[in-house]
Parts: sequence; structure tokens; C-alpha cells
Amino acid sequence: MSTYQAPLKDMQLLLETVAPLAELCKLPHFADATPDTVNAILEESAKFASEVLCPLNWSGDQEGARHNPTDNSVATPKGFKAAYHGYRAMGGTGLPMPEDFGGMGMPRCVVTLTDEMLHSSNMGFGLLPMLTQGAIEAILLAGSDELKATYLAKMVSGEWTGTMNLTEPQAGSDLALVKTRAEPQPDGTYKVFGTKIFITYGEHDWAENIVHLVLARLPDAPPGVKGISLLVVPKFLVNKDGSIGARNDAKCISIEHKLGIHASPTSVMQYGDAGGATGYIVGEPNRGLEYMFIMMNLARFGVGLQGVGISERAYQHAVAFARERVQSRDVGAPKEPSVPIIRHPDVRRMLMRMRAQTEAARALAMATAYAFDLAEAHPDAAVRASNHAFVDLMIPIHKGWATEMSQDVTYLGVQVHGGMGFVEETGAAQYYRDARITPIYEGTTAIQANDLVGRKMAREGGVTAKALIASMREFTRELATSQHPHLKVAHSRLNSGIDALERTVAFNLANFNSNVRACFAGSVPMVKLFGIVCGGWQLARVALEAEKRIKTGHADKAFYEAKLATLRFFADTMIPEAIAAADTVVNGAEGTLALAEDAF
Ligand SMILES: Cc1cc2nc3c(=O)[nH]c(=O)nc-3n(C[C@H](O)[C@H](O)[C@H](O)COP(=O)(O)OP(=O)(O)OC[C@H]3O[C@@H](n4cnc5c(N)ncnc54)[C@H](O)[C@@H]3O)c2cc1C
Repeated sequence: MSTYQAPLKDMQLLLETVAPLAELCKLPHFADATPDTVNAILEESAKFASEVLCPLNWSGDQEGARHNPTDNSVATPKGFKAAYHGYRAMGGTGLPMPEDFGGMGMPRCVVTLTDEMLHSSNMGFGLLPMLTQGAIEAILLAGSDELKATYLAKMVSGEWTGTMNLTEPQAGSDLALVKTRAEPQPDGTYKVFGTKIFITYGEHDWAENIVHLVLARLPDAPPGVKGISLLVVPKFLVNKDGSIGARNDAKCISIEHKLGIHASPTSVMQYGDAGGATGYIVGEPNRGLEYMFIMMNLARFGVGLQGVGISERAYQHAVAFARERVQSRDVGAPKEPSVPIIRHPDVRRMLMRMRAQTEAARALAMATAYAFDLAEAHPDAAVRASNHAFVDLMIPIHKGWATEMSQDVTYLGVQVHGGMGFVEETGAAQYYRDARITPIYEGTTAIQANDLVGRKMAREGGVTAKALIASMREFTRELATSQHPHLKVAHSRLNSGIDALERTVAFNLANFNSNVRACFAGSVPMVKLFGIVCGGWQLARVALEAEKRIKTGHADKAFYEAKLATLRFFADTMIPEAIAAADTVVNGAEGTLALAEDAF
């Protein structure tokens, strides 16, 4: 069976470089997140991931979740419910949540690492805590005091879980088409009617109640996205004393048969078949999508982390196989017997590509998570605002790039295994299948890309993108002071990458009003370009610190040298791909749109 070890040393290094925890815990808001506390959390989470979740990953995939049509219940695979209770007992569900509701209030940069471990060890499992976090955030953000008092403590403790109900058969990327109805009742509640599809953990057997957050339209709502409201619709109504009451008119009528994440039930939810499901409005009517988008920021960030987590797992698996599998002679020593495949240059290329992209995406996620924390807790309003803007810009980049790169990494994971990669028992195929959903849900890559070029760039005149470019330029001046050959190459490549990025930002701003179709034709390559250049920037920040530690005689020299070598590969191989993507952004639209629709 495949094993997983959390990359704790890498994670620690990120908490000392791109997301300096020692600085963060000086802020009163994060005073409890001391390095000792965080170390203990990371070690315990790592142990749980490798000893409890990892052994269930393969069996969960094979067994899958099962729907029982007689009572509309869903049974999750053997061992998952007990694992969830172990996760709760460890305090996993409350880690990032406010202390007022029983959480630990840990910074996002810490939770980013523990969440990555969940997704590496068992992506099907990790989805439930991820979506529950999103549902809690929405209630925290806009819920009334009564809603908070009724639901939050139980959701933070993990006693109850949460879902996000956006999608309907005719409304996927385009939520303006949502049809589910919510009719106001004299007592201030609503009756909800409609069908939601693809609802992750919409039904399961881990918790006594499920708190659905449902997008719906009120009778007088304006058409389009401005007429959508957000409602809490619990599986069981809650009595005044907080105990579980009557069953609500909400049921899971089936679950999907999918390419991957078999352990995670993807439910079709039916609301209102027996007179209307009781719902409670969150915040103000018609502002549901606005609230959902704030909650979706976190969910999109979480899906990007799934990309990182599944890539790390595929990489570890491929390295282990490449060390063991003996095949073919070394091209540099053809008279010697056959060697482990890790000695073949092309296998090295694949492993480096897997490793470098995973590390870059993790570092970028951590830089974003750190900005989340500063945006929330820094005493200076200007610092909060600039970090907020950075997070907003980074969400579509991180989600789009980390999930797309996970396709490449898990594909290579299969390739390293040769024919054994195509055979299910080795496990490499499962990572490939599981990874495939990540560029689709929480907004496809195209939707992230539209968000990047439209809302996050053109609409604000490129202010944040230009500030980002200025920060990267400032960093490359620091990088230029190093004489290390790998850092010198990285400096030159990164500068070219930033030039390319600047060129595409200028193209986008110049053309958005006059030739919007051209901007959207190149928006997905733009996500790739931003992801690679920003990922390279963060990798270089880590490598610069690694060089300092080597110079000062740090004991773990081999580990730090590996950081420099990984950056060198990324600079030589990935940044040129980003520059090629920039050419596509600027010059590709004509060809992309040349063929008439009816000629396809
Ligand atoms: C396993 C799984 C779990 C899910 N979990 C949840 C959940 O918990 N809650 C929930 O509400 N939903 C969930 N979803 C739904 C998911 O978020 C949607 O499938 C996703 O947003 C895409 O919508 P769609 O499937 O309708 O595709 P469509 O919107 O029909 O898209 C089809 C294609 O058209 C492209 N496209 C559409 N619009 C544009 C545009 N404006 N510009 C460019 N290209 C465009 C897309 O990129 C895509 O390539 C889940 C889906 C799956 C498969």
C-alpha cells in the first residue's frame, strides 16, 4: 500500500520564509499561534494523515459511497466515519475558527498546511471539512445572531457538517440561472423548493445534522445574479434548546458515479417535495451571491490546495517507485547492468517537474495564506487593504494554476510507473483520477481566468497587478546580489518572466474595452503565466534563504541545496513555458477565434 509522509521540513521552511509565523504571532489576534503550538499541531496532523487517512484512501476509492433509495441515506466507505470522529477529537474542524465558537483561531497559513495534508492523504475525506469551513464562514459573515447561536458551535466542533448548494441542472458556471425558490412565511422563515445537483457531502453518515447553505430566489427578486438569496436549510430542524427536532423537507435522491473522489458522496438534493423545506435567510435578501462569493474565495483557495496536496502525494509515490524499479542500463554507463529507473535522465525530468511545480504552488499558496492573515489581523488599515487586494488577485491564479498543474503532475506520476501506472492497484491512477475534478469544481479554470482578466485586473485598471509586478521587481534586485550559479540563472529567467507578465497586463488593459473577446481568448494562458511567474518568485525567496543557511554552515546542507536545485529546474523549464503562454495571450486570439461557429 502507498504511504504518505507530510513534507514537514518544507512546511516549516515556508513558515520561516514566505509566511513568517514568528512575525504573525506578534499580532495580538494570533498571539496563541506560537511556533511551539504550531509545531505540535503540524506534527499531530501529519501523524493523523499518514496513520489514519492514508490507509483509507485506496479502500475508500474502491468501495465508494453508496446511496440507499429506500430511505435516501448515504453510507460512506468503511472506516471513514471513525476517521472523522478522530479528526474531530484532534480539534481538526475548529482549527481556523474563532475562539468565541469553540475554535482555536489558528492563522490561515497554518491551516493551509494541515489542509494540504488532508488532501494528500485522502482527498475524498478532505472535502467535507473544506466545505464545512466555507459554510461556517458564510454564517459568520452574514448570519443573524440567532443563526450563529444555533449553528456555529456545533459546526465548529464538527458535530454538524455543512454544504454549499449552488449548482442546478441548468445553472453551473452561470448562477444567474438559479431557479430554486424561497417563499417567505409569516413567522419569518422561508419555504424552499427546488433541485440542486452535484452537492458534495449533501448526505452522509458522519454527523447527526447537515447544514445546507442554499442559493434561491425570493418571489419578488430581480432577474439575474442580483436576485439570489442565501438560506440555511438544515437536514433536521433545531429545537429552541439546541436539540435536534423534526426532519426537514430536504433529501438526497441519488448520488453520482464519478471518475474519481469515490469516497465523497456527490448528491442530488431535492427540497420541498412535501410542502417546502424550512429555510432561514442569511443576511439580506438578494445579496446571497455576494456572500457566497466571499465564502467561495476560501473554497477556491481550498481546491487549489487539493491541487498541491494530490501533487505531493503523486510525487512521493513516483519517487518511491523510481528508486525500486530496475529497468534499462544507464546511458552514461552502458556496460553496467540495468539500473533503478531514477537514474535515467528522462525519469529525472519527470520527477523534477513534479517536485518543482508542487513546491512552487505550495509556496504561492502559503504567501497567499499569509496575506489572508495580515488582511484579517494587521493593526494598520493600509496593510490590511493591500494584503486584501493581493489575496483577491491571487485566488483565481492559485486555484487555476495549482489545479491545472496537478493534471500535469499526476499524469507524470502515472508515466513514471509505466504500465503499472495504468493498473489501478499501484495507486498512481487514483491520484490522476482524483485530481481531474479540481480544475472543474468551485469554478472551472475558464471561470477563474475570466475573474482574473475582468474583475481582478481590467475593472480596477490593473492597480493590484502592477503593484504585484513592482514587488517582484524589488525582490529580483535582492536576488541579483547572490553569486550562486542557480540563483543567478533564476534571476535572469525570473526577470524575463516578469517582463512577459507586464506585457500581458498592458495588453489586457489596452484591449479590454475595445476587443474583449481577444482578452478572454487568452485568459487561461494568462492564469498559467501568472501562476508560474508568481510561483517562481516564491520558490526563489525560499532558495535565497536556503543559500544564506548553507553559507552560515547549517547542519541540513543537503536539504537546502535541494531547494536551490529545484529552483534551478523551475527557472530553466517552467518559466520558458510561462513566456510562451505570454505570446499566446498577446498573439493567440486571432487564431483561436478564426473559425466560424458553424465550421466546427
Ligand atoms: C464532483 C463534483 C462536486 C461538486 N460539488 C459541488 C458542491 O458541493 N456544490 C455546488 O454547488 N456545486 C458543486 N459542483 C458543481 C461544480 O461547481 C460545477 O460542475 C462547475 O462549477 C461547472 O459547472 P457545470 O458543470 O455546469 O459546467 P458548465 O458551466 O456547463 O461549463 C461547461 C464548459 O463551459 C465553460 N464555460 C462556461 N461558462 C463559461 C464562460 N463564461 N467563459 C468561458 N467558458 C465557460 C466551462 O469552463 C466548461 O469548460 C460539483 C461538481 C462535481 C463534478
